[in-house]
Amino acid sequence: MKDEELEKRKDEIFSLIAKDKFLAAAEKLIALEYTWSKEIFSEWRRNRTKEEKELADQAYNYEEEYFQDMLLNEYKEPSVCSTEMEDGTWQEIKANIFDYSHILDAWIFKLEEMEDCCGQCVGARKTIIIDPAQISVGEDLNLTLLHELIHAFEFMMPDTHKQYVTLRLFQKLEPLIPGLLDKIETDLHTQSSEHTLLFWLKSLDLDLRLNKSPGAIYSHNIENPSLL
Ligand SMILES: [Zn+2]
Repeated sequence: MKDEELEKRKDEIFSLIAKDKFLAAAEKLIALEYTWSKEIFSEWRRNRTKEEKELADQAYNYEEEYFQDMLLNEYKEPSVCSTEMEDGTWQEIKANIFDYSHILDAWIFKLEEMEDCCGQCVGARKTIIIDPAQISVGEDLNLTLLHELIHAFEFMMPDTHKQYVTLRLFQKLEPLIPGLLDKIETDLHTQSSEHTLLFWLKSLDLDLRLNKSPGAIYSHNIENPSLL
């Protein structure tokens, strides 16, 4: 989008706000952000390197394999409910409350050298940046990518879903990790504000599933991890 076009659209939004038309302004703002992201995304897709394509493919595989719970696909069972059809008859239909998958399709994956961290997730830009040095480490699993993917999924999830998945993860992990609640209480005092309880539980879930020591994914991008 050209700068003038962008300015024009911004002015439209400001004038809607001035008229108290907040909903219309919000819709235009979302549209603006979407168009902007889509353009940036297309540009990235055109110009991405072979390694960046591989990184994206790896992220899609991880999404499929390890993040279905955060998409609520692991939990949902279609409920059956009766709905009135257009012709006045009633029919039983299967209703999926949550219907999203493959949220990473619109995300950008970049390999860029970084000064003081090995990965970064910028939710508003749907972008994950990984330091290329992480790729040459030679691990079969990209722990930095997994760490940033948890941030990405958290960014995309509505708040109620986050609370629900936190609860389900706790329910799943409690029998597997002795003293989990005590560890959470300890962690509450030391956790950095970047990392939520959901993040912490999901990273532990991935550690267990990938046969990593507890804390491997959580601390992978943190200089001073709290004790787990
Ligand atoms: Zn992090």
